[in-house]
Amino acid sequence: MSSLITSTIRCILDLNCFYNLSNVVDILFKTILDILFPPFCAGCGKFGVVICLKCIERIEFNHLNTCLVCGGQSIKGFTHPSCATFYTPERFISPFVYSDLVRKAILEGKFRGKTFYLYETLADIAYYYLYEVGIAFGNEALVIPVPLSHEKLSLRGFNQSDVIAQVLAARFGVPFVGNVLKKIKETRPQSRLARGERFVNVSGVFQVSALVHGKDVLLVDDVCTTGATFLSCCRALKEAGTRFVWCFSLARAVN
Ligand SMILES: [Zn+2]
Ligand SMILES: [Zn+2]
Repeated sequence: MSSLITSTIRCILDLNCFYNLSNVVDILFKTILDILFPPFCAGCGKFGVVICLKCIERIEFNHLNTCLVCGGQSIKGFTHPSCATFYTPERFISPFVYSDLVRKAILEGKFRGKTFYLYETLADIAYYYLYEVGIAFGNEALVIPVPLSHEKLSLRGFNQSDVIAQVLAARFGVPFVGNVLKKIKETRPQSRLARGERFVNVSGVFQVSALVHGKDVLLVDDVCTTGATFLSCCRALKEAGTRFVWCFSLARAVN
């Protein structure tokens, strides 16, 4: 019951733009909440932690780095020179396999389910992963989320990719900008479409603010399946003058 109360309070706080407060206040308040309403492990239900060490070991890392354009294996996720065009991302990184606890966290997180706060822990682990694979930013960088459709945003009240992007931005000390990309056309749910249809479905549906001109962008999503959404976003970003685009998804769904 206490975890339900914790989730409810945190949910209310989040809806009131809690993330815009300073980090110190944020951490202090979360610590107080954790003392008042300790969490339970998302994997085994153990009292007092968002995820216990035993369950962390269950999390499957994605060791298959691929080129986002052709889906073939590539060194450290760099786009193959033969696949690269002016509009393609430089690199694609996804630390976890979309299975077990990560899948549970992502599915429940979309609706602020009971494992919502596992998102932040996974994003923290992902930060170290990114750091290890050599991601570093210059002065002209931004972290931006893949946007939700207007319909989904109204339904859920938040974009789950914002949560991941905000953690990474804070860790890297790079600005997070939440509304750079906008979805200007409604699309059919990608999960119900065949691979080829997914690319057509998201083609030309994103609009970009001029803020990205000359910047390097870490583009963040929760899960990547075919890469169609990333490629469409990246095209819009590059057309608006973005220099480098690194696509990051918390998890990768293996077909
Ligand atoms: Zn556990
Ligand atoms: Zn390729």
